[in-house]
Amino acid sequence: MTKIYDLHCHSTVSDGMLSPAEVVRRAYEQGVNVLALTDHDSISGLEEAQSAADQLGVELINGVEISTVWENRAIHIVGLGFDKTHPKMTALLAEQAALRFKRAIQIGEKLAKVGVENAFEGAKALADGEVTRAHYARYLVQIGKVANDNQAFKKYLSQGKSCYVKSEWCDIPTAINVIHQSGGISVLVHPLRYTMTNRAIRRLIADFARWGGRAMEVSGCGQSPEQRQLLADWANEQGLMGSVGSDFHFPCQWVELGKSLWLPQGVEPVWNAL
Ligand code: AMP
Ligand code: MN
Ligand code: MN
Ligand code: MN
Repeated sequence: MTKIYDLHCHSTVSDGMLSPAEVVRRAYEQGVNVLALTDHDSISGLEEAQSAADQLGVELINGVEISTVWENRAIHIVGLGFDKTHPKMTALLAEQAALRFKRAIQIGEKLAKVGVENAFEGAKALADGEVTRAHYARYLVQIGKVANDNQAFKKYLSQGKSCYVKSEWCDIPTAINVIHQSGGISVLVHPLRYTMTNRAIRRLIADFARWGGRAMEVSGCGQSPEQRQLLADWANEQGLMGSVGSDFHFPCQWVELGKSLWLPQGVEPVWNAL
């Protein structure tokens, strides 16, 4: 029987809405055999996820989604199958957490300047772990400033908008090296999510491969077959393995754990190397 893999999803440890154990249970109910929980810059959900996975017979791969900066943009690199106690990994994530905290305060200050008081406290109250822009978006919805999360990003939080704070995340080679030194595999995720030209995306993929990156997310939720094939071609072109991930954050109509994730023929699956 072919296994169902989902190697990219989030819990309340970052900006997901289900606890790590609830994510694992939902994955199990959706028929996922192999799951990686990949919270933003945090591995503090992995222990809880592992207990739940052991109880249910789901294979859990250690995961994390590291925020990096490339050409002045935030680019996400997933690490899979690393040693979660490795000092290089825990040190990098401690630095990233400090940057995230500092940035969260600065976003709060910018929101105060446009008339939204106490937004840091509001966003923090909605967060179990890291305070992300998604928590700010949810707070802005809660107080009626915007109708939905997407509007919050469009109006305040996206790059170039009034309350955007430039990221100081680590660079891509640092993320790749720390993932590899801690025994894991680096994956460039959701390459088509960035508002970049195809030419710039291919430059990003080439840089990632040149710096030693190993795999690229080829299969995700809500893709067209053409997009999936394009990503497969780009991965093959650069000698990258292919990964699959829903990027699940919360139950909704469009994104589900393990849903329609598969690799086109000819792409080397990342799990062959895990
Ligand atoms: P951060 O890591 O704090 O910069 O937050 C980024 C997170 O915000 C992403 O991982 C997404 O989950 C979420 N996000 C980004 N853009 C949007 C958007 N337009 N609408 C809803 N959520 C978004
Ligand atoms: Mn997110
Ligand atoms: Mn991401
Ligand atoms: Mn993600």
